[in-house]
Amino acid sequence: MSSPDIDPPRLYSAREPIFPKAVSGPFRRLKWIIMGLTLAIYYITPWLRWDRGPAMPDQAVLVDLANRRFFFFWIEIWPHEFYFVAGLLVMAGLGLFLFTSALGRVWCGYACPQTVWTDLYVHVERWIEGDRNAQIRLWRSKWDARKVRLRLTKWAIWLVIAVLTGGAWVFYFTDAPTLLGNLLIGQAHPVAYMTIAVMTATTFIFGGFMREQICIYACPWPRIQGAMMDEDTLTVAYREWRGEPRGKILKGEATKSDIPPGEKGDCIDCFACVNVCPMGIDIRDGQQLECITCALCIDACDEIMDRIGKPRGLIDYMALKDETAERIGNEGSSLWRHVPRPRTLLYFGLWSLIGVGLVVALFMRSPFDLNVTPVRNPLFVTLSDGAIRNTYELRLRNKQGGEMPFTLSVADGKGLVLSIEGAESDTVVVPADSTATLRVYLTAPAGSPMAQTGTSDIELLVSDQAGIESSIDTVFHGRD
Ligand code: SF4
Ligand code: SF4
Repeated sequence: MSSPDIDPPRLYSAREPIFPKAVSGPFRRLKWIIMGLTLAIYYITPWLRWDRGPAMPDQAVLVDLANRRFFFFWIEIWPHEFYFVAGLLVMAGLGLFLFTSALGRVWCGYACPQTVWTDLYVHVERWIEGDRNAQIRLWRSKWDARKVRLRLTKWAIWLVIAVLTGGAWVFYFTDAPTLLGNLLIGQAHPVAYMTIAVMTATTFIFGGFMREQICIYACPWPRIQGAMMDEDTLTVAYREWRGEPRGKILKGEATKSDIPPGEKGDCIDCFACVNVCPMGIDIRDGQQLECITCALCIDACDEIMDRIGKPRGLIDYMALKDETAERIGNEGSSLWRHVPRPRTLLYFGLWSLIGVGLVVALFMRSPFDLNVTPVRNPLFVTLSDGAIRNTYELRLRNKQGGEMPFTLSVADGKGLVLSIEGAESDTVVVPADSTATLRVYLTAPAGSPMAQTGTSDIELLVSDQAGIESSIDTVFHGRD
């Protein structure tokens, strides 16, 4: 039985809004650069053009779902080449493992779309409502004309960003200028409008209202990445041995970074690191799942250290191994010496291996493909003059931007006569970027060795105008 004086544990607490304070410094500048680059890549890419020939789409990056193709500048991936996409996805995963094991949550802190768009929304908020203190005052104030005006302005700009974000997404799946025209006159496919609506809503809600909650509760990555990190992983941490005991430092009072060491630590308990944190946490409490290692607390604390004349780095990027060494008075090693280690080298090796394999496969692939299926019902027919004829279904895929004549033949002739249904010669023209299905006949004259042999292995050859040749093995059935 519980005592009436003891409060039951709280299983739920409402979200405390976070008002991150503006900060400047090298990590903030790095975040600006990455934000600018990633947003520019996202919004501009669908508008880049790439000439592939008259019959081909001229959008540089296009996921052409209707024709089941993926275009990336000069590369065109067909459905049967999906292993390229699979390889790139595996590389992206391994790249993430590599960066996480070497540099902790750099993806979360700098490049994750949730981080980038939230950062953008936070800046709009700051621009409209002012910095942290002004935002807190506005949040606590009653709803009046000013508050309504500021909120509506902020939400309107957030909404414009959200619509642009959703709009940019659909441009990756069809010709962007055509789709934009159709969207504006209400003639686009309903799926395009629905996709934009969903992307707009998620951007607006995730970036505007759910921010850190997405990272903490919805994203599985913070839980998974723990398996990739160890005590050599570089992460943002507080030098507790140097900062504690924290407290205001009176004029002339010695601290631990002075020589000789004094009583107090270097942390003056100013909360600058907490106030700038977009996740609303205190890094001085140790490693936390919520920390996305954006390093803004480093910028904030370094600024304070400069002001009070103490060495920078009270909060710093460091390996936990070094933190432990420093705590007992030893020197930590150079940051970059933690990066090459068996785990990171293994990830890098696998990543490079797949990358090299994909590049080699890309440069070795033929500009056309073929596959052949012998018609088995019947295996062969005997013509009126006693010749034996086999029939084949040949699929010839022209992967080039212009129509191309292809010549078919049998390797070493083998005494077989080749003809193509509907064609007057052994050459067919296949339109640009398409597949032709051909019915091909091979005939062995009566009495020839091939006509009298049961089953013979043969090789069908296809060559294009440039002399590039491709072959495929099949069989010829003669009379037993
Ligand atoms: S910014 Fe630095 S000095 Fe201020 S509270 Fe944080 S750790 Fe302490
Ligand atoms: S504790 Fe520091 S590094 Fe971690 S999320 Fe907050 S500001 Fe970023």
